[in-house]
Amino acid sequence: MRRSRFLWKLYAGYAVLILTTAALVGVLVGRSVVDSAEKQAHNELLARARALVADDRMIGWFRADPDKHIQQWFGEQGVATGTRLTAIRADGLVLADSDFNPHQMEDHGTRPEFLAAQSAPVGYNKRRSVTSQIDTMYVAVPVLAGTEFLGVARAAYPLDTVESELAEIRAQVVLGATAAAVVALVLAFVVARRTTRPLVEITSVADAIARGDYRRRAAKTAGDEIGQLATSFNSMAQQLLDRVDTISRDRERLVAILGGMVEGVVATDVNELVTHMNDVAGRILGVSPAQSIGRPIYEVTRSAEISETLGRALHDRDREAAEMVRVGPHEDEVVELRVAPLRGAGGVVDGAIVMLHNVTELRRLERIRQDFVANVSHELKTPITAIRGMAETLVEDADMPIATRERFVEKIKDQSLRLSSLVSDLLTMGRLESEGSLVRIEPVDLARVVDSATTAVAPVADKRRTRVSVDVPGEAVEVLGDQDALEQMLTNLLSNAVKYTPAGGEVWVRLGRSAEVAVLEVRDSGVGIEPIHQKRIFERFYRVDKARSRELGGTGLGLAIVKHISLAHGGDVSFESTPGRGTVFRVRLPLATEDDVA
Ligand code: ADP
Repeated sequence: MRRSRFLWKLYAGYAVLILTTAALVGVLVGRSVVDSAEKQAHNELLARARALVADDRMIGWFRADPDKHIQQWFGEQGVATGTRLTAIRADGLVLADSDFNPHQMEDHGTRPEFLAAQSAPVGYNKRRSVTSQIDTMYVAVPVLAGTEFLGVARAAYPLDTVESELAEIRAQVVLGATAAAVVALVLAFVVARRTTRPLVEITSVADAIARGDYRRRAAKTAGDEIGQLATSFNSMAQQLLDRVDTISRDRERLVAILGGMVEGVVATDVNELVTHMNDVAGRILGVSPAQSIGRPIYEVTRSAEISETLGRALHDRDREAAEMVRVGPHEDEVVELRVAPLRGAGGVVDGAIVMLHNVTELRRLERIRQDFVANVSHELKTPITAIRGMAETLVEDADMPIATRERFVEKIKDQSLRLSSLVSDLLTMGRLESEGSLVRIEPVDLARVVDSATTAVAPVADKRRTRVSVDVPGEAVEVLGDQDALEQMLTNLLSNAVKYTPAGGEVWVRLGRSAEVAVLEVRDSGVGIEPIHQKRIFERFYRVDKARSRELGGTGLGLAIVKHISLAHGGDVSFESTPGRGTVFRVRLPLATEDDVA
């Protein structure tokens, strides 16, 4: 147990009280003992003096001159009582003395006890004896003949005897008082310790709690106020523990929420020092969250936008938003910033929360969507304008030669076909982009897909005198998928191969398989694709040569559809192309397992 200063203070109080009381009692008892001893001596002396005076011979002896009888009698009485006895005549002459020779004694007429006894029944005095040189108590009783004062009979007692007795008594009193004081001091210590122990314990528990050991409790020792104090203290500690628990639970929850957010979150204090940063914010800003705590936000982010927006929010005590562009490793990243001031107790702004949202992808998607809408409108507008123009001409020009009229109608038909294939490609794209784009999923033999697709492009190939060679293995090559979609995919690749191969060229379709994938290859001896276009040919509406593609009936969506279908089947598509010599597109699709087929 820790040392208690309170114990010693309390004990010191007790000790002062005990010692003062013991000293006081000692002094009072001593004094009363001395008083009573003196009173007793006085009474004894008085009794002896009175006994002398009561003797009948006394008057005779006092009227005469000193007589040996009185001297002898006083001597005997002195020995018998152990008291010095003196007879002093009215004129001060010493008639007899039990201890000394009266002839050698001086005149005693001036002794105070003698003088006092002349007018009172008793004369008393305490002084150093001239005769014996000892502190002595004297009691004198007058010897009277009727009312005539003849002298006094005096009894004396050496005080040193009384003193030595008194010293003994005093020593006993001191001893008794000391012993009582020692016992009282020991008891006081026990009582003081008992009183202070619960307080000391509560104090040490309070210290432990202040150091963070919230589980410590004070023992309830008694039902008195200190016991109540311990109870109240314990319930206070419990409440504190509950609150600390709640706060830490809330904090953990908050940290978990912040950690799980898709947005980056940075919290700062009013001086713009970082107090919290989640991992997402660390990733967006390219810094370590742990190392950013406690540092100024500008130093951490090196972003003027963040500092300025944060500064404005803290200054205006209002929400602020901004957008910033950060140079990323691959591309510039667009980050949306939202800053909200944090209010502490009393509504005073004592920090801010900075939310960072990487909107690069969102912006890209927005741009793609806008481009797509613009492209679609443009693609639709061209055939519609052409159809409308020609239809109007036909309506307005009644005298148009029949041959021209037929040419116009033919063109209107071409444009409507183009419109129709555009709309059907758009619908296919839309379907593929929505969730669950494949209508039916079943085992499909790719040899049959090759068969249907080559049949579909045969008329165009024939027209262009392009030879289509097919190389399909003997056994079935099965994948899990949507037969119609796979046919469309291969038809698109084949029709491109035919389209972009000059008349009289060659196209090869090959179906093969490796351990786990089916490989579909469409090779042509056509114009090829220049390297600068190679990256973009899978984009929607991207065409190397717009006019030519249109002329050939292309919509610019063919390869985008191919890519979508191969991805939807868990596969991929790639190509190699040499300008002027030809291109090969390769689609790899996962083979159906035996379980799938069963
Ligand atoms: P399109 O309807 O114009 O054919 P695609 O998406 O099918 O649109 O193809 C995009 C572009 O890729 C085409 O405009 C063409 O320039 C090029 N391309 C596609 N396939 C071939 C190929 N086999 N040989 C050369 N160029 C090709």
